[in-house]
Amino acid sequence: MSETTQATTVIFRSTITCPECGHAENETMPTDACQFFYECKSCGTLLRPNQGDCCVYCSFGSMVCPPMQNAPHSKSDLKGCCT
Ligand SMILES: [Zn+2]
Repeated sequence: MSETTQATTVIFRSTITCPECGHAENETMPTDACQFFYECKSCGTLLRPNQGDCCVYCSFGSMVCPPMQNAPHSKSDLKGCCT
């Protein structure tokens, strides 16, 4: 709740919504890596990041991945967070 920690607060929970069936699943993101593939728990579709996104959380999640949350610039300035 402190203003001094606001910029560095990272959220590790993200809800992935499947573009095929609309199923939403709350997941915990890895802290220092990106998840490239995610299998929908409802329909089994293997999700992959959209072009330009580094991981499935950036493409389909309610929250982008922790490395992207820590990035100082906007998403469009980055080539990817996990290279
Ligand atoms: Zn699905």
